[in-house]
Amino acid sequence: MAIAATTLVAAPAPTKITPSKDLIGFSIGEDYKMANYTQISALLKKWETETDRMKVVSIGNTAEGRPQYMAIITSPENHKKLDYYREISVKLAHAGLSEDEAHKLSKEGKAVVWIDGGLHATETVNSQSLAEMVYQMVSRTDDETMRFLDDVILLMAVPNPDGVELVANWYMREEDVTKRTFQTLPRLYHKYVGHDNNRDSITMNMPETTNQNRVLFIDWIPQIMHNVHQTGPAGTVIFIPPFRDPFNYVFDPMIPVGIEQVGMAMHARLVSKGMGGSAMRSAAPYSTWWNGGMRTATYFHNQIGLLTEIIGGPTPAAIPLIADKQLATGDWPLPIKPQVWRYRQSIDYMIEVERAVMDYASRNRETLLFNIYGMGQRSIDRGSKDSWTVTPKRINALTTAAKAAAGDEPAGGRGRRGGAGGGGGGGGDNPFFTPALPTELYEKVLNDPAYRDPRGYVISADQDDFPTAIKFVNVLL
Ligand SMILES: [Zn+2]
Repeated sequence: MAIAATTLVAAPAPTKITPSKDLIGFSIGEDYKMANYTQISALLKKWETETDRMKVVSIGNTAEGRPQYMAIITSPENHKKLDYYREISVKLAHAGLSEDEAHKLSKEGKAVVWIDGGLHATETVNSQSLAEMVYQMVSRTDDETMRFLDDVILLMAVPNPDGVELVANWYMREEDVTKRTFQTLPRLYHKYVGHDNNRDSITMNMPETTNQNRVLFIDWIPQIMHNVHQTGPAGTVIFIPPFRDPFNYVFDPMIPVGIEQVGMAMHARLVSKGMGGSAMRSAAPYSTWWNGGMRTATYFHNQIGLLTEIIGGPTPAAIPLIADKQLATGDWPLPIKPQVWRYRQSIDYMIEVERAVMDYASRNRETLLFNIYGMGQRSIDRGSKDSWTVTPKRINALTTAAKAAAGDEPAGGRGRRGGAGGGGGGGGDNPFFTPALPTELYEKVLNDPAYRDPRGYVISADQDDFPTAIKFVNVLL
């Protein structure tokens, strides 16, 4: 009998995890209900006592003095060797190992993934989806969840606890649910910087940024980091990478490629489940250029930093009808019908998107670990010999040099890169026709010694304000 067959599979003992409704009086994603940070912390603390899959640690205090909690979620077996897996993750990110050693450690290690929720506190889907994701990861016993737990160590934290407390309390203070709103919030949702808490990741003036950066860049160095925001482009549900061009060419090329891979896995999961309304690239202005953000700072540490921007909130809203978003394109492959949109639908989207990240990390565990080593190793190599970063200015220099070399003749007269146009004779109107330049200009212009990348920076002790120089070095560290 089919029933006997299924019950014979060695299923993990079901763990009884108390649902949020029994602890805080409502389910995550209920209309007109938002859990504050005190409630989210209470959920995490309670669930920690009911599972051997999760440890909850404080990573430091917030600007208003609250403990900033981080959930560490993985299988009970992995928890027993947590420090060992953490060391592997850090060692590979630091590189400086032989390839053989790196392969061995990648094989042994576990993928480390960071997912947060609630950096911008009025973007109210994310702190709640964090609680829901934690709940599902500690309570579900399906094969996929068990595989995630075996292969991946998941770190989840609320980046702005004070803001989530303020915003939820302000919204929930009205008895009449139709009066509940975030519009009238009386002050910034971070004590000092409000929304600019996402501009602090390279200067670390705020305690929360310091706490997070210690986890992200010193203690754990996750291979994937997912920073969650709102809102999605009009007529869609969620923006998910890849990002539009130009990508930031100072990064290792495995950064944009890695973002494409994981981003596409996220889109694919939604599309395959018929969950329309995901959009990428040209659908939004997001890019890899702003250096001070929580996500973008990770690129300088060779981490795959993901951004999502979803619609929704506790007060039901609507997806409007936007003409161009109804025509499927490569950048929004599955259009969605205009409709009333509820909080729980956004939570469900976030869970699928986060499970897509977990699935990618699980299936590509060893490759992710080895790739962060590879990026680190290439960075060390670049510092050990001459190297050049090609920028738009250097390309301008190249075409200028080509014109000069050709006298007054257009450089295109010298030849062409074959094949791409597929016939059609001259290149005049063919957008795939690119005139080739004299090859020797590569060395002369793009490898001009005057434009070498720096190999290091010397900070002299002999300067007027040395204490500030030390502070600067410590921020860089
Ligand atoms: Zn945001």
